[in-house]
Amino acid sequence: MRCTHLCCDASLRWYTVYQSIHIWKSSDKKPMDIHEYQAKQLLKGYGVPVLPGGVAYTAEEAERVARELAAESFAVKAQILAGGRGKVGAVRLVNSTADVRETAARIIGSTVATEQTGGREQRVLRVYVEEACDIVDEFFVGLLVDRTTARVTVIGSRRGGVGVEEVAAGQPDSVLKVAVDPLEGLLAAQAREMAVWLDPSQTHAGSLEQCLLGLYAAFTELDAALIELNPLVVTRAGQLVALDAKMSFDDNALFRHKNIADLRDADAEEGRVLRAQEGYNYIKLPGNIGCMVNGAALAMATMDSIKGCGGEPANFLDVPPSAPTDRITAAFKRVLTDPEVAVIVVNVVGGGITRCDTVAEGMANAYRAAGRRVPLVVRFEGTNRDLGKKTLRDTGVPFVAADTLAEAAARAVARAAETAERQAP
Ligand code: GDP
Ligand code: MN
Repeated sequence: MRCTHLCCDASLRWYTVYQSIHIWKSSDKKPMDIHEYQAKQLLKGYGVPVLPGGVAYTAEEAERVARELAAESFAVKAQILAGGRGKVGAVRLVNSTADVRETAARIIGSTVATEQTGGREQRVLRVYVEEACDIVDEFFVGLLVDRTTARVTVIGSRRGGVGVEEVAAGQPDSVLKVAVDPLEGLLAAQAREMAVWLDPSQTHAGSLEQCLLGLYAAFTELDAALIELNPLVVTRAGQLVALDAKMSFDDNALFRHKNIADLRDADAEEGRVLRAQEGYNYIKLPGNIGCMVNGAALAMATMDSIKGCGGEPANFLDVPPSAPTDRITAAFKRVLTDPEVAVIVVNVVGGGITRCDTVAEGMANAYRAAGRRVPLVVRFEGTNRDLGKKTLRDTGVPFVAADTLAEAAARAVARAAETAERQAP
């Protein structure tokens, strides 16, 4: 009995120490920012009006997105984790799909420094291509937790296009703040008050009200730390549209929102590469065939096979057997979002610790989060091979299966050659 008590006591003390470390560590964390296109996609789900658009990692993809939009003019917007892009030419309006391609080619791979990047250049890995619109009226709408009242506060201004700090500091009466009671939530009457204040003519007060209620629902349900629509505009066509969207999330709540945690763009946040800490070994190479393999030796064999078939690997990537799903997600997203990658070979041999289905889950998360479709050749062997393939199919990840490494390499090289042929002028 005595022994049991001692053990309990010890583990309790250990748990307390563990918790305080955890609290100390988490208080050190900054909110997590996501990209504009990701914020728009999330907000759209809450009824916030956005224009049709799509993300692109290459100039060709950008042109394809533009063609599918079938609009008369387009906005090509660099996706970096900072605003102020308009002033430095990282948001461009163009009038043809050819210009979208040309503009995307110039922006993707370039670096951008704005007044919000803290003097640092951020590399642009993707652009958002959106239908353009004519702006008639511009608002600013922001939601954040007011530190002094600890309440979610909705801030509105008729001076859209200007930063919130400038808006609030410059002309206090050009800003309306509405504090929300956490038990009641944003009331329809409060949303209405803000809507009418923003649009005294009340032409768009109804849609403004709906938009505000949607923003509040998104903010609370997703544990956001900040939502900023700047500008929220009325178009010449008479439509209310969130033309820009910024969202940050409370790091401490991310465990409740796996799909949002997967949106983290660690490279952009850090401005540098921290592969070792991310739990996988990655080396960028000059080719166009991406690979993800478990084990360094197998990764080298995979690269040799690709070369043997006349292809060029775009990277070396070894995911260790102990990697949990989220590390696989991060690793696979790394390859998926490499603009040079035309096709990806996944070669995973489950040896007990590595399970093909776990790898498949990580891949599916990355596929969803990256929003980029790259042809995929998958060779799964060993532990849960069939379950792995089933997981990919069930989660809607299109892939070509290969039974051997030689077959996987051959198929990938053939596919890369096809892509190159199609892209040739
Ligand atoms: P930010 O500068 O990083 O905040 O990027 P924004 O998304 O706010 O874009 C900058 C500016 O570009 C906006 O304030 C708008 O004035 C302008 N802009 C963006 N998209 C469009 C569009 O479709 N039509 C027009 N006319 N202007 C746009
Ligand atoms: Mn903006």
